[in-house]
Amino acid sequence: MKTYRSYPVAELGSVELGSTVTLAGWVNRVRDLGGVIFVELRDRTGILQLVADPSSPILGDLQSLRQEWVISVTGVLRQREMPNFSIPLGDMELGVTNVEILNTALSPAIPISEESSVDEVLRMKYRYLDLRKPSSYARFKLRSDVSQAIRHYLESEVFLEVETPILTKSTPEGARDYLVPSRVHPGEFYALPQSPQLFKQLLMMSGFERYFQITRCFRDEDLRADRQPEFTQVDLEMSFVTQSDVISLVTGMLKEAFRVAGRAFPASIPSMTYADAMERFGVDRPDLRFGSELTELTPLFATSEFKVFADLAISGGTIKGICIPNGAAVISRKVIDELQAIVQPMGIRGVSYFHIQEDAITGPAVKFLTEAELATLKTAMAASTGDTLLVIAHPQRRVVQEALGKLRLEVASRFNLRQNDDKLVWVVDFPLFDDDGKGGITAVHHPFTAPHPEDIALLETDPLRVRSLAYDIVWNGTEIGGGSIRIHDSKLQHRIFQLLQLTDEDISQKFGFFVEALQYGTPPHGGLAIG
Ligand code: ASP
Repeated sequence: MKTYRSYPVAELGSVELGSTVTLAGWVNRVRDLGGVIFVELRDRTGILQLVADPSSPILGDLQSLRQEWVISVTGVLRQREMPNFSIPLGDMELGVTNVEILNTALSPAIPISEESSVDEVLRMKYRYLDLRKPSSYARFKLRSDVSQAIRHYLESEVFLEVETPILTKSTPEGARDYLVPSRVHPGEFYALPQSPQLFKQLLMMSGFERYFQITRCFRDEDLRADRQPEFTQVDLEMSFVTQSDVISLVTGMLKEAFRVAGRAFPASIPSMTYADAMERFGVDRPDLRFGSELTELTPLFATSEFKVFADLAISGGTIKGICIPNGAAVISRKVIDELQAIVQPMGIRGVSYFHIQEDAITGPAVKFLTEAELATLKTAMAASTGDTLLVIAHPQRRVVQEALGKLRLEVASRFNLRQNDDKLVWVVDFPLFDDDGKGGITAVHHPFTAPHPEDIALLETDPLRVRSLAYDIVWNGTEIGGGSIRIHDSKLQHRIFQLLQLTDEDISQKFGFFVEALQYGTPPHGGLAIG
């Protein structure tokens, strides 16, 4: 009976030398040294050297091989005369006795055997060759391993895996929908789901209690480095849970994923409120791999002789700063100009800087401050000799936070301030609504997110101050997932839709089924999606 292979290459390590084996794969490389020929055979698991002695009748067959031909070879496994211990199986080779050519190949349009910088367009055109690289396979393998680990973890936590529809009704979540025309109903369209949000909540209404799915989501958004038209989420939903139940379940899941990926997982993941994240890091996804936190300086400057800052502070503006360790040696006037150019479009007129020198503090604004004020500034920012302070001011607190948050990340990249360990943080207490810039409000997360119970009264008086029961998980400054406790009361859900400027007609047209379903015994529930 025909066999293409008796072992995958990687298993040869445990096969006795002298055994006859049959291998199958691709020709990775041919080196003809005139008389002696070395061929590398590559399969999904590894690479092995094939040889034929100069006197062997098989020599000609090996010489005829070309890169990426598909072959099955039989031979005797033996010790290599000149072992290469730096590569797996580098101490053995196959003395070939038979070669079967299973297919020939055009000369590869992009290199496969080594990592080289090939133009991205070419890589995509020849994607099947690009994916033939062992490094490409390794990435897919990691993803597969992590998915399996997550699946096992959630199964052990008694989650049910459910596939929800792809050709569906619109699930408004802030992005635009992709539409698919219906052949059967001309002029009508299906929408592709932005996420299975409504479906998973319906499953809770059906009493499933714990659902998950590794699912595709579709959002018609502009491309960015971390945004694609379609992407995969680990989506889950649970009934009878509080925010901390969801957080602890997901923390366990991430721990599993990190274990499988071979990454150290932190002993605990801190939580930070959205308000704190904005105050201390100027962003709702703080990168905790380095310090340089934003420090409040408004009171300090309010009483100073630095008129521009003092006036601004007294009239309700905000002044904040960051301290860049050892910045004095690297932050030149030119760097300041470049940093300034980054925040100028955000409405910041100038970035003030102070270099903490051995015996003095230098910088253009120093002349406006007394010795005592400079000393207070240095202490407030916990600065040491050699550090640089960057200070910015603006009438709006949010502008200062965001601009300084941006500078903080920029200097970290420029001056390598980040440590290597992974840093995870839960950000909680997000606002429920945001200003839509058109006189109305929009949902920060999505319209099904529950308001914070302590802030319910504010819904009618000051909706923009209402916090929500929404949470994000942030990894090294990137939001990798988020979710919320949902509204399970149909009247409150209806009110939230109204606050979001939906008319009764909109509500019944877009969400009628959903608001109705909420009235048939919906348990408290919440969930999250990663990805
Ligand atoms: N559907 C939400 C999202 O895709 C996640 C959630 O609220 O569970 O971001």
